[in-house]
Amino acid sequence: MDYRVSAQERAAFKLCRRQWDFGSPNRQRLQALDPEPIDLNRAIRDALAVYYYPGMWDWQSAIVFPLVRKAFMRSIAAAPPSAERMQALDLGTELLERYFDWAPSVDDFGPLKIETDVEVIVPDIREPDRGLLSPDGLRVLYTERVALVSADEDNQYWVVVHHVVTDWQDIESLLLDEAAIAACWAWEQTYLGMDVAGTIHNEMLRSPPDVLGTAPTGTRTGRIGRGGYSQNEPSGGGRMLPPAERPDRLERRPETHPRVEQEIAGPLRRTKIRRTREEIDTAAQQIGAEVLDMLDSHLRLYPTPSPRHCPSCAFRAPCLAMTHGADPALELASRFRQGPEAVSYEPRLGAGGGGGRNISLPGNPPPSSLT
Ligand code: SF4
Repeated sequence: MDYRVSAQERAAFKLCRRQWDFGSPNRQRLQALDPEPIDLNRAIRDALAVYYYPGMWDWQSAIVFPLVRKAFMRSIAAAPPSAERMQALDLGTELLERYFDWAPSVDDFGPLKIETDVEVIVPDIREPDRGLLSPDGLRVLYTERVALVSADEDNQYWVVVHHVVTDWQDIESLLLDEAAIAACWAWEQTYLGMDVAGTIHNEMLRSPPDVLGTAPTGTRTGRIGRGGYSQNEPSGGGRMLPPAERPDRLERRPETHPRVEQEIAGPLRRTKIRRTREEIDTAAQQIGAEVLDMLDSHLRLYPTPSPRHCPSCAFRAPCLAMTHGADPALELASRFRQGPEAVSYEPRLGAGGGGGRNISLPGNPPPSSLT
Protein backbone atom coordinates (compact mmCIF):
# COMPACT_ATOMS: atom_id res chain seq x y z
CA MET A 1 0.00 0.00 0.00
CA ASP A 2 1.18 3.51 -0.84
CA TYR A 3 0.18 7.04 0.08
CA ARG A 4 -1.10 8.59 -3.13
CA VAL A 5 -1.46 12.27 -3.83
CA SER A 6 -3.31 12.92 -7.06
CA ALA A 7 -2.94 15.97 -9.27
CA GLN A 8 -6.51 16.91 -8.27
CA GLU A 9 -5.64 16.65 -4.59
CA ARG A 10 -2.59 18.82 -5.07
CA ALA A 11 -4.72 21.44 -6.84
CA ALA A 12 -7.32 21.32 -4.06
CA PHE A 13 -4.63 21.74 -1.39
CA LYS A 14 -3.24 24.82 -3.09
CA LEU A 15 -6.67 26.30 -3.69
CA CYS A 16 -8.02 26.05 -0.15
CA ARG A 17 -6.73 23.90 2.70
CA ARG A 18 -10.14 23.68 4.34
CA GLN A 19 -11.72 22.34 1.16
CA TRP A 20 -8.81 19.93 0.76
CA ASP A 21 -9.17 18.69 4.33
CA PHE A 22 -12.88 17.99 3.85
CA GLY A 23 -12.58 16.19 0.53
CA SER A 24 -9.14 14.59 0.31
CA PRO A 25 -9.08 10.76 0.30
CA ASN A 26 -6.14 11.13 2.70
CA ARG A 27 -8.10 13.37 5.12
CA GLN A 28 -11.84 13.43 5.93
CA ARG A 29 -12.71 12.10 2.42
CA LEU A 30 -16.19 13.60 2.45
CA GLN A 31 -18.36 13.32 -0.64
CA ALA A 32 -21.51 15.38 -1.17
CA LEU A 33 -24.78 13.44 -1.28
CA ASP A 34 -26.07 15.87 -3.91
CA PRO A 35 -25.18 14.92 -7.46
CA GLU A 36 -22.03 16.53 -8.73
CA PRO A 37 -22.46 19.46 -11.10
CA ILE A 38 -22.15 18.67 -14.79
CA ASP A 39 -18.52 18.69 -15.83
CA LEU A 40 -18.50 19.75 -19.46
CA ASN A 41 -14.71 19.80 -19.52
CA ARG A 42 -14.66 16.18 -18.41
CA ALA A 43 -17.22 15.14 -21.02
CA ILE A 44 -15.32 16.88 -23.83
CA ARG A 45 -12.10 15.31 -22.64
CA ASP A 46 -13.74 11.87 -22.72
CA ALA A 47 -14.86 12.55 -26.27
CA LEU A 48 -11.43 13.75 -27.37
CA ALA A 49 -9.88 10.61 -25.90
CA VAL A 50 -11.83 8.71 -28.54
CA TYR A 51 -11.06 11.28 -31.25
CA TYR A 52 -7.32 10.86 -30.59
CA TYR A 53 -7.40 7.19 -29.73
CA PRO A 54 -4.21 5.97 -31.46
CA GLY A 55 -5.67 2.65 -32.49
CA MET A 56 -8.41 4.43 -34.47
CA TRP A 57 -6.37 7.43 -35.64
CA ASP A 58 -6.06 6.01 -39.15
CA TRP A 59 -9.72 5.10 -39.41
CA GLN A 60 -12.18 7.02 -41.51
CA SER A 61 -13.82 10.02 -39.84
CA ALA A 62 -17.25 8.69 -40.71
CA ILE A 63 -16.58 5.71 -38.45
CA VAL A 64 -14.83 7.57 -35.65
CA PHE A 65 -17.07 10.64 -35.24
CA PRO A 66 -20.14 8.67 -34.07
CA LEU A 67 -17.94 6.98 -31.46
CA VAL A 68 -16.65 10.37 -30.31
CA ARG A 69 -20.21 11.67 -29.97
CA LYS A 70 -21.18 8.51 -28.10
CA ALA A 71 -18.35 8.94 -25.60
CA PHE A 72 -19.51 12.49 -24.96
CA MET A 73 -23.13 11.43 -24.50
CA ARG A 74 -22.12 8.64 -22.13
CA SER A 75 -20.21 11.09 -19.97
CA ILE A 76 -23.08 13.59 -19.85
CA ALA A 77 -25.65 10.83 -19.27
CA ALA A 78 -23.87 9.90 -16.04
CA ALA A 79 -25.43 13.01 -14.46
CA PRO A 80 -29.09 12.87 -13.37
CA PRO A 81 -31.63 14.50 -15.72
CA SER A 82 -31.82 18.28 -15.33
CA ALA A 83 -32.07 21.48 -17.35
CA GLU A 84 -28.34 21.96 -16.79
CA ARG A 85 -27.65 18.55 -18.30
CA MET A 86 -29.65 19.44 -21.41
CA GLN A 87 -27.74 22.71 -21.78
CA ALA A 88 -24.42 20.91 -21.42
CA LEU A 89 -25.53 18.33 -23.95
CA ASP A 90 -26.43 20.98 -26.52
CA LEU A 91 -23.33 23.07 -25.94
CA GLY A 92 -20.96 20.12 -25.90
CA THR A 93 -22.46 18.67 -29.07
CA GLU A 94 -21.93 22.02 -30.80
CA LEU A 95 -18.36 22.26 -29.50
CA LEU A 96 -17.54 18.80 -30.81
CA GLU A 97 -18.96 19.49 -34.28
CA ARG A 98 -16.84 22.65 -34.45
CA TYR A 99 -13.86 20.62 -33.31
CA PHE A 100 -14.36 18.12 -36.12
CA ASP A 101 -14.35 21.02 -38.59
CA TRP A 102 -11.36 22.97 -37.34
CA ALA A 103 -8.93 20.63 -35.56
CA PRO A 104 -7.48 19.07 -38.73
CA SER A 105 -6.17 22.50 -39.74
CA VAL A 106 -4.02 22.74 -36.59
CA ASP A 107 -3.22 19.14 -35.69
CA ASP A 108 0.45 18.71 -36.50
CA PHE A 109 1.13 15.61 -34.43
CA GLY A 110 0.33 11.93 -34.16
CA PRO A 111 -1.31 10.70 -30.93
CA LEU A 112 0.71 8.21 -28.89
CA LYS A 113 -1.25 7.57 -25.71
CA ILE A 114 -4.49 8.83 -24.26
CA GLU A 115 -5.82 8.93 -20.70
CA THR A 116 -2.75 7.29 -19.26
CA ASP A 117 -2.30 6.91 -15.51
CA VAL A 118 1.19 7.74 -14.28
CA GLU A 119 2.49 7.30 -10.73
CA VAL A 120 5.84 8.55 -9.51
CA ILE A 121 7.67 8.61 -6.22
CA VAL A 122 7.63 12.05 -4.60
CA PRO A 123 11.17 13.09 -3.69
CA ASP A 124 12.07 13.89 -0.11
CA ILE A 125 13.45 17.41 -0.51
CA ARG A 126 15.23 17.13 2.85
CA GLU A 127 17.31 14.17 1.70
CA PRO A 128 18.36 14.23 -1.95
CA ASP A 129 17.97 10.92 -3.80
CA ARG A 130 15.43 9.58 -1.36
CA GLY A 131 11.72 9.17 -1.78
CA LEU A 132 9.30 10.72 0.66
CA LEU A 133 7.63 8.47 3.23
CA SER A 134 4.38 9.18 5.04
CA PRO A 135 4.39 9.22 8.87
CA ASP A 136 3.21 5.59 8.66
CA GLY A 137 6.23 4.66 6.56
CA LEU A 138 4.30 4.40 3.27
CA ARG A 139 5.83 5.40 -0.03
CA VAL A 140 4.37 8.71 -1.22
CA LEU A 141 3.37 8.72 -4.87
CA TYR A 142 2.16 11.52 -7.11
CA THR A 143 -0.53 10.31 -9.49
CA GLU A 144 -1.91 11.85 -12.63
CA ARG A 145 -4.02 10.83 -15.59
CA VAL A 146 -2.47 12.37 -18.69
CA ALA A 147 -5.08 13.22 -21.35
CA LEU A 148 -2.88 12.88 -24.42
CA VAL A 149 0.77 12.48 -25.34
CA SER A 150 1.62 13.12 -28.96
CA ALA A 151 4.67 13.11 -31.23
CA ASP A 152 5.46 15.81 -33.77
CA GLU A 153 7.25 15.44 -37.09
CA ASP A 154 10.65 15.42 -35.33
CA ASN A 155 9.45 12.70 -32.94
CA GLN A 156 9.40 15.10 -30.05
CA TYR A 157 6.89 14.24 -27.37
CA TRP A 158 4.26 16.65 -26.13
CA VAL A 159 1.82 16.51 -23.24
CA VAL A 160 -1.49 17.82 -24.59
CA VAL A 161 -3.98 19.47 -22.24
CA HIS A 162 -7.59 20.18 -23.28
CA HIS A 163 -9.41 23.22 -21.93
CA VAL A 164 -12.97 24.38 -22.62
CA VAL A 165 -12.79 28.13 -21.93
CA THR A 166 -15.06 31.18 -21.97
CA ASP A 167 -12.11 33.38 -23.06
CA TRP A 168 -8.63 32.55 -24.21
CA GLN A 169 -6.36 32.18 -21.22
CA ASP A 170 -3.53 34.67 -20.92
CA ILE A 171 -0.16 33.35 -21.91
CA GLU A 172 1.29 33.84 -18.42
CA SER A 173 -1.32 31.47 -16.98
CA LEU A 174 -0.42 28.85 -19.55
CA LEU A 175 3.30 29.32 -18.92
CA LEU A 176 2.62 28.89 -15.20
CA ASP A 177 0.34 25.85 -15.64
CA GLU A 178 2.01 23.79 -12.93
CA ALA A 179 -0.33 20.82 -13.39
CA ALA A 180 0.76 20.51 -17.02
CA ILE A 181 4.44 20.84 -16.09
CA ALA A 182 4.01 18.25 -13.33
CA ALA A 183 2.42 15.93 -15.91
CA CYS A 184 5.60 16.26 -18.03
CA TRP A 185 7.71 15.30 -15.03
CA ALA A 186 5.47 12.39 -14.06
CA TRP A 187 5.42 11.14 -17.64
CA GLU A 188 9.21 11.19 -17.94
CA GLN A 189 9.58 9.36 -14.64
CA THR A 190 7.14 6.68 -15.74
CA TYR A 191 8.43 6.28 -19.30
CA LEU A 192 12.17 6.57 -18.79
CA GLY A 193 14.05 7.84 -21.83
CA MET A 194 10.97 9.54 -23.22
CA ASP A 195 11.83 13.18 -22.60
CA VAL A 196 8.98 15.58 -23.14
CA ALA A 197 9.56 18.70 -25.26
CA GLY A 198 6.73 20.64 -23.68
CA THR A 199 3.00 21.14 -23.38
CA ILE A 200 0.32 21.84 -25.96
CA HIS A 201 -2.69 23.72 -24.61
CA ASN A 202 -5.71 22.87 -26.71
CA GLU A 203 -8.35 25.50 -25.95
CA MET A 204 -11.95 25.35 -27.19
CA LEU A 205 -14.03 28.50 -26.93
CA ARG A 206 -17.46 27.95 -25.39
CA SER A 207 -18.85 31.01 -27.12
CA PRO A 208 -16.94 31.66 -30.30
CA PRO A 209 -17.27 34.93 -32.21
CA ASP A 210 -20.49 35.03 -34.20
CA VAL A 211 -18.65 34.84 -37.46
CA LEU A 212 -16.07 32.09 -37.45
CA GLY A 213 -15.63 32.03 -41.17
CA THR A 214 -15.47 28.86 -43.15
CA ALA A 215 -13.52 25.96 -41.72
CA PRO A 216 -10.49 25.12 -43.87
CA THR A 217 -10.90 22.12 -46.10
CA GLY A 218 -7.22 21.17 -46.03
CA THR A 219 -5.33 19.72 -43.10
CA ARG A 220 -2.14 21.01 -41.54
CA THR A 221 -0.09 18.01 -42.52
CA GLY A 222 -1.77 17.36 -45.85
CA ARG A 223 -3.04 14.01 -44.64
CA ILE A 224 -6.66 13.57 -45.62
CA GLY A 225 -9.36 13.01 -43.05
CA ARG A 226 -8.48 14.20 -39.58
CA GLY A 227 -4.99 15.37 -40.49
CA GLY A 228 -2.04 14.94 -38.15
CA TYR A 229 0.42 12.14 -38.82
CA SER A 230 -0.59 8.59 -39.56
CA GLN A 231 0.19 5.87 -37.04
CA ASN A 232 2.32 4.21 -39.69
CA GLU A 233 4.55 7.16 -40.49
CA PRO A 234 8.07 7.00 -39.13
CA SER A 235 7.89 10.67 -38.16
CA GLY A 236 5.15 11.80 -35.86
CA GLY A 237 3.26 8.54 -36.11
CA GLY A 238 2.61 6.37 -33.10
CA ARG A 239 3.10 2.73 -33.90
CA MET A 240 6.50 3.12 -35.49
CA LEU A 241 8.09 4.95 -32.58
CA PRO A 242 10.84 3.12 -30.75
CA PRO A 243 10.89 2.95 -26.94
CA ALA A 244 13.31 5.83 -26.61
CA GLU A 245 14.22 8.79 -28.77
CA ARG A 246 16.23 7.87 -31.81
CA PRO A 247 19.61 9.59 -32.09
CA ASP A 248 19.04 10.25 -35.81
CA ARG A 249 15.84 12.11 -35.00
CA LEU A 250 17.60 14.11 -32.33
CA GLU A 251 20.19 15.28 -34.83
CA ARG A 252 17.71 16.66 -37.30
CA ARG A 253 15.86 18.76 -34.78
CA PRO A 254 16.35 22.50 -35.15
CA GLU A 255 18.71 23.85 -32.50
CA THR A 256 16.60 26.83 -31.63
CA HIS A 257 12.88 26.89 -31.21
CA PRO A 258 10.58 29.64 -30.11
CA ARG A 259 9.56 29.13 -26.50
CA VAL A 260 5.91 29.71 -27.33
CA GLU A 261 4.03 29.13 -30.58
CA GLN A 262 0.40 30.05 -30.72
CA GLU A 263 -2.25 29.95 -33.40
CA ILE A 264 -5.98 30.37 -33.60
CA ALA A 265 -8.20 28.40 -35.94
CA GLY A 266 -11.84 29.44 -35.60
CA PRO A 267 -13.02 28.35 -32.14
CA LEU A 268 -9.74 26.61 -31.32
CA ARG A 269 -6.45 27.96 -30.06
CA ARG A 270 -3.29 25.94 -29.81
CA THR A 271 -0.44 27.13 -27.61
CA LYS A 272 2.72 25.10 -27.81
CA ILE A 273 5.10 25.81 -24.95
CA ARG A 274 8.57 24.32 -24.82
CA ARG A 275 9.42 23.39 -21.25
CA THR A 276 13.00 23.69 -20.09
CA ARG A 277 14.77 20.91 -18.24
CA GLU A 278 14.92 23.15 -15.16
CA GLU A 279 11.20 23.82 -15.38
CA ILE A 280 10.31 20.13 -15.44
CA ASP A 281 12.82 19.18 -12.78
CA THR A 282 11.66 21.99 -10.51
CA ALA A 283 8.17 20.49 -10.54
CA ALA A 284 9.51 17.53 -8.56
CA GLN A 285 10.99 19.80 -5.89
CA GLN A 286 7.82 21.84 -5.67
CA ILE A 287 5.59 18.80 -5.34
CA GLY A 288 8.01 17.45 -2.73
CA ALA A 289 7.68 20.67 -0.69
CA GLU A 290 3.89 20.75 -1.01
CA VAL A 291 3.38 17.12 -0.02
CA LEU A 292 5.68 17.64 2.94
CA ASP A 293 3.27 20.36 4.06
CA MET A 294 0.29 18.05 3.51
CA LEU A 295 1.88 15.44 5.75
CA ASP A 296 2.67 17.94 8.51
CA SER A 297 0.61 17.00 11.58
CA HIS A 298 0.68 20.65 12.68
CA LEU A 299 -0.60 21.98 9.38
CA ARG A 300 -3.05 24.84 9.85
CA LEU A 301 -6.23 24.26 7.87
CA TYR A 302 -7.21 27.85 7.20
CA PRO A 303 -9.78 28.61 4.48
CA THR A 304 -8.93 30.60 1.38
CA PRO A 305 -12.18 32.21 0.28
CA SER A 306 -12.35 33.56 -3.25
CA PRO A 307 -15.14 34.49 -5.65
CA ARG A 308 -13.31 32.39 -8.22
CA HIS A 309 -13.52 29.02 -6.53
CA CYS A 310 -15.98 29.23 -3.59
CA PRO A 311 -19.12 29.24 -5.81
CA SER A 312 -18.26 25.77 -7.07
CA CYS A 313 -17.09 24.39 -3.70
CA ALA A 314 -19.21 21.53 -2.36
CA PHE A 315 -18.33 22.51 1.22
CA ARG A 316 -19.72 26.03 1.28
CA ALA A 317 -22.38 25.28 3.92
CA PRO A 318 -20.05 23.70 6.52
CA CYS A 319 -17.42 26.30 5.68
CA LEU A 320 -19.89 29.13 6.34
CA ALA A 321 -20.87 27.49 9.62
CA MET A 322 -17.23 27.33 10.69
CA THR A 323 -16.65 30.92 9.59
CA HIS A 324 -19.47 31.98 11.90
CA GLY A 325 -17.93 30.03 14.74
CA ALA A 326 -20.57 27.28 14.62
CA ASP A 327 -20.09 23.53 14.66
CA PRO A 328 -20.38 22.15 11.10
CA ALA A 329 -21.10 18.60 12.33
CA LEU A 330 -24.83 18.75 11.49
CA GLU A 331 -24.19 20.05 7.98
CA LEU A 332 -21.52 17.43 7.40
CA ALA A 333 -23.63 14.56 8.71
CA SER A 334 -26.74 15.50 6.72
CA ARG A 335 -25.17 16.42 3.38
CA PHE A 336 -22.05 14.30 3.04
CA ARG A 337 -20.92 10.72 3.29
CA GLN A 338 -17.47 9.30 3.70
CA GLY A 339 -15.88 8.15 0.45
CA PRO A 340 -13.44 5.29 -0.10
CA GLU A 341 -9.96 5.42 1.41
CA ALA A 342 -8.20 5.04 -1.89
CA VAL A 343 -8.97 6.92 -5.07
CA SER A 344 -10.60 4.54 -7.47
CA TYR A 345 -9.73 5.22 -11.06
CA GLU A 346 -12.45 4.50 -13.56
CA PRO A 347 -10.73 2.74 -16.41
CA ARG A 348 -10.94 4.80 -19.55
CA LEU A 349 -10.42 4.00 -23.16
CA GLY A 350 -6.71 3.52 -23.74
CA ALA A 351 -5.72 3.45 -20.09
CA GLY A 352 -3.32 0.65 -19.38
CA GLY A 353 -3.35 -0.65 -22.94
CA GLY A 354 -4.44 0.13 -26.42
CA GLY A 355 -2.88 3.59 -26.34
CA GLY A 356 -0.57 3.09 -29.27
CA ARG A 357 3.06 3.02 -28.24
CA ASN A 358 4.70 -0.11 -26.85
CA ILE A 359 1.34 -1.62 -26.17
CA SER A 360 -1.08 -3.83 -27.95
CA LEU A 361 -3.30 -2.14 -30.46
CA PRO A 362 -6.87 -3.03 -31.25
CA GLY A 363 -7.45 -5.27 -34.20
CA ASN A 364 -7.16 -3.85 -37.66
CA PRO A 365 -10.14 -1.84 -38.84
CA PRO A 366 -12.17 -3.17 -41.71
CA PRO A 367 -10.33 -2.39 -44.97
CA SER A 368 -13.02 0.03 -46.06
CA SER A 369 -12.50 2.19 -42.93
CA LEU A 370 -8.92 3.20 -43.66
CA THR A 371 -8.43 6.71 -45.04
S1 SF4 B 1 -16.25 27.71 0.45
FE1 SF4 B 1 -14.31 28.61 -0.22
S2 SF4 B 1 -13.17 29.01 1.65
FE2 SF4 B 1 -14.80 27.57 2.16
S3 SF4 B 1 -13.91 25.54 2.00
FE3 SF4 B 1 -14.84 26.03 0.03
S4 SF4 B 1 -13.20 26.92 -1.19
FE4 SF4 B 1 -12.55 26.99 0.95
